[in-house]
Amino acid sequence: MNNKPLILVVEDDAAVRNLMAMTLDTQGYRYHLARNGAEALIEATTHQPAVMLLDLGLPDMEGVDIIRRVRGWTGMPIIVVSARGEDADKVEALDAGADDYLTKPFSVDELLARLRVALRRVNADQASVQEDAIYENGALRIDYAAGCAFIAEREIHLTPIEYKLLCLLARNTGKVLTHNYILKEIWGSYTASDVGSLRVFMATLRKKLQTGVREQPYIQTHVGIGYRMLKLDARGEDAP
Ligand code: CA
Repeated sequence: MNNKPLILVVEDDAAVRNLMAMTLDTQGYRYHLARNGAEALIEATTHQPAVMLLDLGLPDMEGVDIIRRVRGWTGMPIIVVSARGEDADKVEALDAGADDYLTKPFSVDELLARLRVALRRVNADQASVQEDAIYENGALRIDYAAGCAFIAEREIHLTPIEYKLLCLLARNTGKVLTHNYILKEIWGSYTASDVGSLRVFMATLRKKLQTGVREQPYIQTHVGIGYRMLKLDARGEDAP
C-alpha cells in the first residue's frame, strides 16, 4: 500500500495542472486533480488530502472562498498559487487561513520545497497534540512556562513585545503570517502605518536571535506580505 501523503491540486489551467502532476509523480506523491472550485470541495471532503495546492483564480469560485469553507473543518496546509503582482490576493488568502503561497511562474524545485515545509507542519501537528512546553528549532529554545528564550543555551533578553512576536512565529513555524495577522495578534489592531513599527521590532528581534557564530535564518521576510519562522535543523540550516 502506498502511504505517501495525498496532495490535492486545484488548477483550471491544464498546462500548470499537468506540470504539477508530473512533478508530484516524480517524487512518488499521490495526488488528485480538481479543475474548479466545486471539484476541489468534493475532493477535499471525500479524500481529506494532506496538503492542498490551490490556484486562486478559478472559473466557478474564488480560491479564497474555498479556503474559508474548508477552514471550517480542517487545518490541512493550503498553499495558494497565483500570478505575480497579486500580493493583495495572497494576503487575503493567507488571512483566510492559507499557509503559504507560490507565485506563477514557479520552478519545480520551489514547488517541492514549499510542499516539504507544508508536510513537515502536518507531521509536527500530529506529533504534538498538546502544545509543547518547550519549543526547539536549531539553536533556539523557548521555555513557554518560564517565559524565556535561549540561543545555544544562552538566555536572550527580549522585551515583552519581542517575546510575544517570537512565540507567535514559533507557534506557526512553516506558515507565512501576514502583517495584518501579526499586528492583530500582538497589538489587537491594525493600521497600515503599524507595518513600519512591526518592521523595526522584527529587525531588533532578528538581531537578538543571532548567535554571532553564523547567520541563522530563523525569520524569513516576505516583502509586502509578512514573515515566516523557518524550521532549522540542529546545525542551523534550513531543514530539507
Ligand atoms: Ca486559474
